[in-house]
Amino acid sequence: MAGKLIIGNWKMNTRAQSAQSLLDALLADSECNQSWVGVAAPSVYLAMLAQRLQGASLQLAAQDVSGFANDGAYTGDVSAAMLRDVGCTYVLVGHSERRQYFAESNPLLLAKMNNALAAGVVPVLCVGETLEQREQGDYLQVIYQQLSILVDIDAGDYLIAYEPVWAIGTGKVATLEQIAEIHSAIKTWCLQNAKPSANIRVLYGGSVKAENAESILKTDNVDGALVGGASLDAGSFRMICQAA
Ligand code: 13P
Repeated sequence: MAGKLIIGNWKMNTRAQSAQSLLDALLADSECNQSWVGVAAPSVYLAMLAQRLQGASLQLAAQDVSGFANDGAYTGDVSAAMLRDVGCTYVLVGHSERRQYFAESNPLLLAKMNNALAAGVVPVLCVGETLEQREQGDYLQVIYQQLSILVDIDAGDYLIAYEPVWAIGTGKVATLEQIAEIHSAIKTWCLQNAKPSANIRVLYGGSVKAENAESILKTDNVDGALVGGASLDAGSFRMICQAA
């Protein structure tokens, strides 16, 4: 069923061989080789995978993008123009692991969003609170603060992913009530404060598995899923795509 978007985030996993095998398994599977399914692969493998994706429906995504320029003296960075050049449709921006380990914060993330939009790559802005922030009760404020960069984007087709940090890689999935509350709050906030070109779509991420995908994807205001660990296993990912 179309309508929900499923993106697998491979994070810093796979090698050339295993990335190709995983992609080949997805391409051979009609549940996965669909235009509403994407894989966010490590940047060094994007061009190689893009070759295999020629003529396929499955979409390519990147996990990060430069917030600086499209070319120039920025050693180690990969620009939005380069991602577009190799055929990326989407790019994750501000994943909690980037915020935590690479100290990415709002000004840089705004620049990344703008660079992606200008290059024609759809950014997926990731937001979410830590366990401590949830327990303190101020999680909505944390999320609104992360969303606040959208005020400075004039227009554009972007996506949002709600990924509670405490649910990432922990096996602890947010309850359907928690997911529904935050997704609705994000959409309301965007309607009041942002100027997206299209209806805002919000993906859920955090321990999405074959077993829980269907109930999560059926939850109000959930427009898709961002899948980490389970996207590394073609069989599990297939079942998640099937639930979409
Ligand atoms: P897990 O599905 O492994 O919890 O990871 C979620 C995530 O971070 C996707 O971006």
